[in-house]
Amino acid sequence: MRPVNKGDAPDIRFKKYQEAEPYLEKRIGLYCSFCELPLQHVPEVEHKEAKSRGGEELDWNNFLLSCKYCNTRKGYTVKKGDLGQYLWPDTDDTFHAFDYEGDLPRVNVEYLSQKADGSYQKAANLLRLIKLDNRPTKQERDRRFFERNEVKEIALMSKNGWQSMETPSDRDTYLKTIIVLAKAKGFFSVWMTVFKDIEVVKRGLLDSFPGTRKEYF
Ligand SMILES: [Zn+2]
Repeated sequence: MRPVNKGDAPDIRFKKYQEAEPYLEKRIGLYCSFCELPLQHVPEVEHKEAKSRGGEELDWNNFLLSCKYCNTRKGYTVKKGDLGQYLWPDTDDTFHAFDYEGDLPRVNVEYLSQKADGSYQKAANLLRLIKLDNRPTKQERDRRFFERNEVKEIALMSKNGWQSMETPSDRDTYLKTIIVLAKAKGFFSVWMTVFKDIEVVKRGLLDSFPGTRKEYF
């Protein structure tokens, strides 16, 4: 899950929370803040603490962008005051908090068990909150699983392609293609994981997804 920096609240008073969408788009890109799905159609401004349960409706600090799948699963679970029970992509290192086991994301136990600040439980709570590790049944509408694994295949093919490039100039050109593809298909963390040993590609990805917190990498 890509850690992002939304920056300070824009210098305007929102009358409706939907007015925050263009600011979020510009600063952190049109991707679901949780599952990293590209938000091509109707991005939803998501309230970390549910507005129906006391969460601030118009406070920049309470906003993220979300896809329908994550937003629906999260529902009204997080009430005012419960923020500290979860990790959040705009305040925590949510990249290293998760990794992949086969075709599903999971809590990164090896990484989080070294921390004594409750991060493990908070990461587990977040995973459960949005059911990020959902393996959808045939009847279920949840594109996250399929899209994520399709991107993993594309990223693996791209890595093979990268490794077959022979000259620096070929690699340079190919890197641009990788970046275009990654931005269009989304799932930043999948790309970062597949290219974990190739520093120049990781740097390219970090520079290309707006608002990514580079300090964690
Ligand atoms: Zn999502």
